Amino acid sequence: MIIDNHISLKTYNTFGMDVFADNLIYILQENDLFDVLENQLSPIKIIGGGSNILMTGDIPGFVLRNEIKGIEIIEEDIHQVKVQVGAGEKWHQLVLWSLSHNMGGLENLSLIPGSVGAAPMQNIGAYGVEQESVFHSLKAIHLNSGATKIFSKEECKFGYRESIFKNELKDQYFITHVTYLLKKRNHDLHLEYGVITDIIRQKGITKPTIQDISAAVIEIRQSKLPDPSQIGNAGSFFKNPVVSISKYQSLKEEYPDIPSYPVSETEVKIPAGWLIEKSGYKGKTFGNIGVHKNQALVLVNYGGGSGLDIHSLSIQIQKTVLEVFGIKIQTEVNIW
Ligand code: FAD
Ligand code: NAP
Repeated sequence: MIIDNHISLKTYNTFGMDVFADNLIYILQENDLFDVLENQLSPIKIIGGGSNILMTGDIPGFVLRNEIKGIEIIEEDIHQVKVQVGAGEKWHQLVLWSLSHNMGGLENLSLIPGSVGAAPMQNIGAYGVEQESVFHSLKAIHLNSGATKIFSKEECKFGYRESIFKNELKDQYFITHVTYLLKKRNHDLHLEYGVITDIIRQKGITKPTIQDISAAVIEIRQSKLPDPSQIGNAGSFFKNPVVSISKYQSLKEEYPDIPSYPVSETEVKIPAGWLIEKSGYKGKTFGNIGVHKNQALVLVNYGGGSGLDIHSLSIQIQKTVLEVFGIKIQTEVNIW
C-alpha cells in the first residue's frame, strides 16, 4: 500500500484547488483496499480523476485514489462483447480502445474526463447518450463491512446525472470494476444533437461510422469547453432543470427565445446555461474565478481561486436564477 502524507491535491482535481490531504492512499488493486479496511482507517474519501469535485478545504483522514487498471473481454458472441474494466482506467482511454476494436456504444461519450469508476456515479452523459445505455453491472466493495457486491443496472437506479451511489448509498461503496456491453455490428448511431450532424455533413460524410461520431464530438468539445489543464473547471457545475409544461409556457410568454427539450408529455428540460447567461453571469469574472465565456454552465478557476469562492459564486448564481425565473437549479459537481 503506497501512502503520501500531507500532500497537495492540486494536480488531483481539475479545478486545480491547492488543498491538502492528511493522507493519500493509492489503490492499485483490490487488496490495497482490503488493507485500508482491515486497518479501520477513517474517515475515507474516494477520488478518481477529480473532474467532478469542488474541494473547499483541506481533507482530514484518508483520500483513496483509485488506480485499478485493466480492460478485459469476458464474454462475446457475433453481435456483442462484454468488457470488464478496472475502475481506475481513464474513461476516454476506454472509449478509444472500444473504437479501435470497432465496438459501438461509447462514441458520443468521447473526451469526458475522469475515471471509469466514476462514470456510473453520476451516469455520465453527453450528446444524447448516457453510460447506462451500455452498462451491464459493476463490482463494488462496502467501506464498512468489506463485502463485495455486484450491482445490476436496475440496482444502480440510474437517472439524469444520478445513481444510487450519489443518493441512498452515497460514500458507502468503492467501485472497483465496471462491465459494459458493446455492439460489434449494426451500430446504433445517435445523431439527435444537431451539432454532430452539422460537423459530419461539413466533412462530406454520408454514411457516418462510430469513429466519425467520436471525431465530431471531440472537435465540438475541444472548440467549446475549457481544457482543465489550461483553466481549472469541473465541467457543468449545475444540472439542467426539468420543469412542467405550464411553468415553461408562462416563462415563454416573457422570454420567447427560451430553449427547451421535451422530457415527457408533461415536462421539459431547460438548459441551465441559458438561464445563467440570461441572469447576466456569462463570461463574468470575480477575482481569480468566474463563469466561462463560451458556456455559462461552467464555473472556472483562473488560478489561485479558492473552492469556497467558487462555492459562494454557485450559491449566488442559484439565488439569482431563482429570483429571475423561479427555478431552483441543482448542483451537479460534488462539493467536498
Ligand atoms: P471524481 O471527480 O474523482 O469523483 C466524482 C465522485 O465520484 C466523487 O464523489 C468521488 O468520491 C466518487 N468516486 C470516484 N471514483 C469512485 C469509485 N471508484 N468508487 C466510488 N466512488 C467514486 N460529465 C458528464 O456526465 N458528461 C460530460 O460531458 C462531462 N464533461 C466534462 C467536461 C469537462 C471539461 C470536465 C472537467 C468535466 C466533465 N464532466 C462530464 C464531469 C466529470 O468528468 C464526470 O462526472 C466524470 O465521470 C468524473 O470522473 P472522475 O474520475 O474525475 O471522478
Ligand atoms: P449545448 O450543446 O450548448 O446544449 C445546451 C443544453 O441543451 C445541453 O446541456 C443539452 O442537455 C441540451 N440539448 C442540446 N441539444 C439537445 C437535444 N437535441 N436534445 C436534448 N437536449 C439537448 O451543450 P454543451 O454544454 O455544449 O454540452 C454538450 C453535451 O455535452 C451535453 O449533452 C452536455 O450534457 C455534455 N457536457 C456535460 C458536461 C458535464 O460536466 N456534465 C460538460 C460538458 C458537456 P443535456 O446536458 O441534458 O445533454
